[in-house]
Amino acid sequence: MLQVKGGCACGAVRYQSAAAPKYAVQCQCRACQRSSGIGHASQVMVPTEGFEVTGEVRFYQQPSDSGNTIARGFCPACGSPLFNTISGYPNVRGVHVGSLDDPGGFRPQQVVWHGEAQPWDFLDPEVPTGGDVTTAWPSMLQRPGQLGFRLRWKSLCWYPFAFA
Ligand SMILES: [Zn+2]
Ligand SMILES: [Zn+2]
Repeated sequence: MLQVKGGCACGAVRYQSAAAPKYAVQCQCRACQRSSGIGHASQVMVPTEGFEVTGEVRFYQQPSDSGNTIARGFCPACGSPLFNTISGYPNVRGVHVGSLDDPGGFRPQQVVWHGEAQPWDFLDPEVPTGGDVTTAWPSMLQRPGQLGFRLRWKSLCWYPFAFA
């Protein structure tokens, strides 16, 4: 089981999730390419509850079509991307797998925004691409009022919505 515990490159920021990851994804959208500096972002989703952070994390904001804002958190000292939050859905954190202390157990369940992938960014062909990530989102979160994600925006990875 992947333990969601890690920090930035310089060590100023540390984080730990009390819960196991609920979803694991590779996102090849342009926004993730820019924010990661490589061809895709590798992330696991964990509940905000029990997610502890020490050290200063700075966020830059990106507006979404739904009126929400996605905030991408990074260490202001070394610039390492750490985790994302979404304004209307504060119960989930999307953690960059490269910042984990032991990222070897990452098993992506889906590749999203594959249409924006760079031709040199090869990922495991066994992992399904595209589609609606809600189909793979764990049932734990698929309850009324709980968070799910759909992929809708050109500029953002995640479209959050509440299950009815
Ligand atoms: Zn740092
Ligand atoms: Zn993305």
